[in-house]
Formats: sequence, structure tokens, C-alpha cells
Amino acid sequence: KAPVLEIKNFHVDYGLGSEAVQAVRDVTLTLHRGEVLGLAGESGSGKSTLAYGVTRLLPPPGVISGGSVIYHPPNGDAYDVMALTDAELRKFRWAETSIVFQGAMNSLNPVHKISTQMIDVIKAHEPQLSPSARVARAQEMLKLVGISADRMDAYPHQLSGGMRQRVMIGMALVLEPQVVIMDEPTTALDVVMQRQILAQLVELRERLGFSILFITHDLSLLVEFSDRIAIMYGGRIVEQARSVDLYKDSLHPYSEGLLKSFPALRGERRELAGIPGSPPDLRGMPSGCSFHPRCPQAFDRCSTEIPVLGIPAARNYSNRSVACWLPGRVPISVER
Ligand code: ATP
Ligand code: MG
Repeated sequence: KAPVLEIKNFHVDYGLGSEAVQAVRDVTLTLHRGEVLGLAGESGSGKSTLAYGVTRLLPPPGVISGGSVIYHPPNGDAYDVMALTDAELRKFRWAETSIVFQGAMNSLNPVHKISTQMIDVIKAHEPQLSPSARVARAQEMLKLVGISADRMDAYPHQLSGGMRQRVMIGMALVLEPQVVIMDEPTTALDVVMQRQILAQLVELRERLGFSILFITHDLSLLVEFSDRIAIMYGGRIVEQARSVDLYKDSLHPYSEGLLKSFPALRGERRELAGIPGSPPDLRGMPSGCSFHPRCPQAFDRCSTEIPVLGIPAARNYSNRSVACWLPGRVPISVER
């Protein structure tokens, strides 16, 4: 499959110099055209920081301290999102890559009707469309996400949380972007609603053909709905594989622990059932593999050398990668 977004050796810090917190470290991750890629990891592992960084929406004191993000438009040459000017960036967001952030449903403007807010997005990006064409487009998109015509003129407070979230998804899709990033769009919703929204998104993806980067704590949702899964720990990707492969046979002890755990529905840090201990403190990262203090299988090398993400040497693992020093998992080739 062809790549649509290639994140390469990406680093993000909060703050500068010796005070800096290293929130994202050397992340290399490719989203392919039309696929659903899941990103999972405990609270504080850097998932949102990565999403903000990739779209250059990182609030201060966040600093992108290295790496590139190559976007492949459907027609034309690939380019590095990190090199875009502010004006180019404004076009890129929404139209090429759109994002639904954690708690996005609360970012709807309370004093405007949902139809008006969606029409405004269309107006800003496609000023050539006639007013009636804009309305028609907004209607069509709201219908697609399950908001019927009689609710179009509702104000945000008149809708349930699930409906507001669907409005946000509609806004993210209205300009027909190639990539949609969803950062835990379902945190505040109940489990049944989470499942419905993700299922609907996957169905829309099949019709509209965009790619999804879906970020969540809930690995069981990803196993069900995504094509591939990347697992993040302490700012690094520690494993990536097809969902079925990860589920059947995870290679990183952290992934294994996550698969056995129940997700924390809210963002607070707490122990996962399958993994004793808590996520690393970014101000005092453990040496070597940052998971080693919690890892039941850690040995000498784990505390001294940071494992690189690569294709494991053992068996016939070709389309997956892991960062682990355990026998059989040491990489033959490093993803660069
Ligand atoms: P969650 O699952 O809770 O959403 P996450 O994986 O999205 O977590 P991030 O929000 O990306 O994690 O945070 C990664 C790390 O960066 C955390 O340790 C966090 O404390 C730190 N961090 C985030 N924002 C800031 C900031 N403004 N200043 C300093 N550190 C920050
Ligand atoms: Mg987050």
C-alpha cells in the first residue's frame, strides 16, 4: 500500500535546554492510504503530543526538536509538513489532514447553530462555492454522520455528547481530507457510544476513502477496528504490527501487558491490571529501555542500552517491528 503520511525520526520536547521534557522520541511511523492505524499507550506516553506535533498545532512550551512528516497528496509531489509556511499550513489542515482532538465536542461555539459552524469551515476553505452549495454540503455531511435535517439548526447544548462528537467528525470530513487524526474522540462518552462512533467512522472511511490515525487507551477497540496498531511507551513507539498479529502474538512485554489490561476511561494515571508500576517520569527517564523497571522479562542489557525499533530477526516477521532486547526480537534491520 502507498504511504499517505510518513512520520520520520520525530522528536518533541516541552521546554528548552536542561529543563526540557522529552515527550516524543525518535518516532517513525507510516500511515498508508485508506488504512486505519491505531495508536495506543498509557496516559502520558506522548500520543497527543505526537498528534499535535505532526499537525504543527503544538502549544508552547512544546518544541519540535527533530524529524519530518512527509505528506503525499493524491495528485502532485510529496512535501514535508514541517517546511510549510503558516498560510500553507492553514490550507493543509482540514483540507488535507484534519484532526478531532480529545474533548473536541466541547470546542463547538455555544452561540452558533451547528449548521452555521460547519458552513463557516466550508466558506473559509472553498470560497468559490455558492452559499446554497455550502448549505447543501453541510447538510449532506451532517446526514452522513447521522444528524438528521431537523437537528441542523440546533445549538450545541441542545445535542447529546455523542451527537456533538459526530458533528465534530462531520466538520473534520467536510473538506474531504486524505487523513483524519482522531485523538481519543470518545474519552468522555460511554463505551457503547465509543464503539458506535468508531464503527461509523470506519464505515465512512470505506465510502470516502480517507486514512485514519486513531488514538486511544482502549486497545480492544483498536484490535477490532484498526488494520494496524502502534504501541507507544515513554515517548517512543515500542511495537507496531497488524492488529491480528499483535493480538495473537505481541512481541513487546508492554504490549502484552496492555492487551491484558482494562483501559482507564479517564486520562488519569493509574496502574493497569496487567502491568504493575506506573508510567515513567519524563524528567527522570530510566536508562536503557524505559520500560525495564516494570518489565517481568528484563535482563542486564535492558537497563543500559535503548532498544531500536526494527524488524525482529526471529521467525518470519516481516511486516512488523518491535523495540526489545529479548532473544528473537532484536532487530535485523532498523526502520529509518
Ligand atoms: P493521555 O492518554 O492522558 O491523553 P498522552 O499519551 O496523550 O496521554 P501527552 O498528553 O502527549 O500524553 O503527554 C506526554 C507527556 O508530555 C506527559 O508526560 C506530559 O506530562 C507531558 N506534557 C504534556 N504537555 C506538557 C506541557 N505543556 N508542559 C510540560 N509537559 C507536558
Ligand atoms: Mg492525549
